[in-house]
Amino acid sequence: MKRLQERIQKDGKVLSSHVLKVDAFLNHQVDPLLTMEIGKEFAERFRGEKITKVLTIEASGIHFALATAVSLQVPFVYAKKKKAVTLTEEVYSAPVYSFTRQEEYQISVSRQYLSAEDRILIVDDFLATGAALVGLTDIVKEAGAHLVGVGAVIEKSFQEGRSLLEQRGIRIESLARIIAMSPEGIQFAAAPVHQ
Ligand code: 5GP
Repeated sequence: MKRLQERIQKDGKVLSSHVLKVDAFLNHQVDPLLTMEIGKEFAERFRGEKITKVLTIEASGIHFALATAVSLQVPFVYAKKKKAVTLTEEVYSAPVYSFTRQEEYQISVSRQYLSAEDRILIVDDFLATGAALVGLTDIVKEAGAHLVGVGAVIEKSFQEGRSLLEQRGIRIESLARIIAMSPEGIQFAAAPVHQ
């Protein structure tokens, strides 16, 4: 997605060879028009898949899930990282290892909101190690729902996330694929034909 790549080049900050800061427009301050375009692009790429729900994880996936769900005209659900006191009913849950925090945490979704009849599209801000997205795919599996695919706004292709998901036979659509980065610059993978 050309506009997204240009914005990453302009406003993204490479903190290290593995960490890209995009909080000027994606995950702290948010550009609403770019976010809506991202949702439209995910919806386009998965058009015809009869998606019934979009699934993400709090917090930085929520606005992309909303934008995608608006385009697809379906509900979206976000997995919670801490079990809320109001979440009294039975949940699907999966462990996720956070490399930034160096600890494992549980994500959960109420059983009320995912079922075997659902066709799910998972979206998130980053595909890095893939831990968060694999946790979400485990939840979809537990619910017996059909996983249509995964949409990542930014993929860091030099990390292992893509291959982890591919090993599971999951379709991945990333809107910006970074193959290398350093404080001197960011290098994107060549755009596929549909971009
Ligand atoms: P994972 O390693 O599980 O693929 O990524 C987990 C989460 O860490 C992502 O959803 C994203 O919120 C955050 N993350 C991973 N890599 C980066 C990065 O380079 N920059 C920022 N801002 N967040 C990241």
